[in-house]
Amino acid sequence: MSEIIFQRLALIGIGLIGGSIALAARRAGVVGHVAVSTRSVDTLARANELNLGDSFHVDPVEAVRDADCVILCIPVGAVGAATATIAGALKPGAIISDVGSVKASVVAQMKPHLPEGVQFVPAHPVAGTEYSGPDAAFASLFDNRWCILTPPPGTDPQAVETLAVFWRKLGANVETMTPEHHDLVLAITSHVPHLIAYNIVGTAADLETVTESEVMKFSAGGFRDFTRIAASDPTMWRDVFLNNREAVLEMLGRFNEDLAALQRAIRWGDGDTLFNLFTRTRAIRRGIIAAGQETAVADFGRPHESSAAAKEED
Ligand code: NAP
Repeated sequence: MSEIIFQRLALIGIGLIGGSIALAARRAGVVGHVAVSTRSVDTLARANELNLGDSFHVDPVEAVRDADCVILCIPVGAVGAATATIAGALKPGAIISDVGSVKASVVAQMKPHLPEGVQFVPAHPVAGTEYSGPDAAFASLFDNRWCILTPPPGTDPQAVETLAVFWRKLGANVETMTPEHHDLVLAITSHVPHLIAYNIVGTAADLETVTESEVMKFSAGGFRDFTRIAASDPTMWRDVFLNNREAVLEMLGRFNEDLAALQRAIRWGDGDTLFNLFTRTRAIRRGIIAAGQETAVADFGRPHESSAAAKEED
């Protein structure tokens, strides 16, 4: 049996990520009491039905009172207002964290509201699915996935270590980096791929020469896998792009240049360029499987009767 890391953990927001933290923390036996708060009474009631916490609060101030650790599990555009609401009720010495997919903007929004004496350790578990809400939560979401911590200068290293231990107990591997570096890395590994998926599905939907039923019927040719990513939560992803603008635009610039080179290779019949790139990219896919971040199951690791539910990074 693990030792309790936080006697009282407060989760503000209880969707896919907040709910999965609650379940994984209970599975690991590392929390005493989980206090849950979310803005809508319907979500709060559903989280209660699903037994995702020990106490449920309409008022986030009640949830965070006396908590050793508070984790905001809400869209990145909402963290500033939420922090302003709870800041005065945070216990001295408490760890305050989040799970946002963007980090520099989260630090900029939250830090000005935080009182002296609380320890700010922003975090991003690089694990998710295209589903949202408390019903989508599951305890193994973070198993063997990365959780990136981006503590601002001045944060007590002991608090960073405590949160790192907590995430490891939830099943994750932990790495620490600056918020700016995080945003650049995630722009290319997550944000731009999502934008491409949203764009290609939108383009297909707008085509006049191909009917919608044909798009659905022949989707297994590759399109279908983009539609899974393009089904991701609209609020969350709107906020990601609005809050990681610079890094996404930088990576999109690179992407557009490389796409133009491929366009040129196709136009001029330059098969070597295409073949060489496709060979390199196949090796990258194999490297991801070897690193345990994906399964080698055929059909893009989609769950089959014999395989566990597919998990994708966000
Ligand atoms: P989710 O399942 O949609 O849950 C969102 C939660 O945030 C709900 O409790 C919702 O409350 C609350 N919320 C929504 N808008 C809000 C607002 N304007 N103000 C206050 N609360 C609000 O979302 P999620 O997938 O757990 O994502 C939460 C965070 O995790 C995001 O910051 C996202 O960037 C990050 N993240 C997501 C993934 C992923 O794959 N989904 C992976 C890693 C990190 P009500 O239902 O009560 O309205």
